[in-house]
Amino acid sequence: MIPFNKPYITGKELGYIQEAIATGKISGNGHFSKLCHSFFEKRYGFKKCLLTSSCTDGLEMAALLVNIKPGDEVIIPSYTFVSSANAFVLRGAKIVFVDSRTDHPGMDEEAIEPLITARTKAIVVVHYAGVAVDMDKVMVLAEKYNLLVIEDAAQCIESYYNKADQTSAPLGSIGHLAAFSFHETKNIISGEGGMLVINDPQFLHRAEIIWEKGTNRSSFFRGEVDKYGWVDVGSSFLPSEVTAAFLYAQLEELESIQLMRKTIWDRYESGLKDWAAQYGIRMPYIPDYATNNAHMFYLVFESMEKRESFIDLLKSAGILSVFHYQSLHASPFYLSSHDGRELPKSDLYTENLVRLPLYAGLSEEEQSFIISQILKFKG
Ligand SMILES: *Cc1c(COP(=O)(O)O)cnc(C)c1O
Repeated sequence: MIPFNKPYITGKELGYIQEAIATGKISGNGHFSKLCHSFFEKRYGFKKCLLTSSCTDGLEMAALLVNIKPGDEVIIPSYTFVSSANAFVLRGAKIVFVDSRTDHPGMDEEAIEPLITARTKAIVVVHYAGVAVDMDKVMVLAEKYNLLVIEDAAQCIESYYNKADQTSAPLGSIGHLAAFSFHETKNIISGEGGMLVINDPQFLHRAEIIWEKGTNRSSFFRGEVDKYGWVDVGSSFLPSEVTAAFLYAQLEELESIQLMRKTIWDRYESGLKDWAAQYGIRMPYIPDYATNNAHMFYLVFESMEKRESFIDLLKSAGILSVFHYQSLHASPFYLSSHDGRELPKSDLYTENLVRLPLYAGLSEEEQSFIISQILKFKG
């Protein structure tokens, strides 16, 4: 059986965990957490990073930081993981869903402005498959209407946005806040894990407090105050050093992991493009302003029936391919709160998109087998 995902282990994880244990301190914000924070801050120029227990936690911190209050509206794509929206619903936000693009499952930048009202507080951008949303367009709207932008960068490590002025910016560095995931299905993993990125300096101080259960403990450890106490709301968002040690082992191998994923992605593309064109099956689209971090290789079929028979064909050959997001606007939880607008493109990807196995460690032989089985599918 070829699974859809298999966690890739670099081999250094246990050694670093042992080191963490040997320091005698395995709660959060220790040696390995700091190594991870500075890795990201240096490599991507993020202003400040705070590891969290998940991307979901990072998004929940973002919702607290931007002070979402009941009745505030937040614009979020419908074709995304539940956490993109749930983090804001927890604070009482009304979610205003935006549709996907015709050429790509990511959010339609042109559809955002008509959704903005006097109650809109934030836009949550989701870079689907690690492929950038056209951020210049989003940031112009944010400035024009005084909105905050939170990047759900769960899938985005090592992916960039190429701006109109020819410079490029890492995803997660453009919005006021951003959240990454190190869940075992992402490119870089720690089992469960995530990170909040703070780009707007107005949030720096409070982010640390919310991270540390509403206390100013971080200031205390830096010697800025002589005792610490309860100064704001917060929760336990930081992961232990065991998780951070695991993550750091992965980060040290970031480039080799990315190379493996990129090679697999490119082989899918070259091996499947003629077949896909022949049967009207769509392959991933990477706009000029985006880069590809090989997070995901997906196919979009003409109908749900075709997708189902494709998944069945692969399954009978021992290969697991999966579909994923169910449009959030039509979900059992949110349907009755949704404003009733139809979001046909989000529904189209819900019904017709399938993801192929893609993980560092998938062998060339296994991938050749997968491709040979796919080519048996005749439209
Ligand atoms: C994986 C994912 C999340 C959730 O990440 P966790 O670390 O599991 O909380 C959120 N948003 C998107 C777009 C994701 O792909």
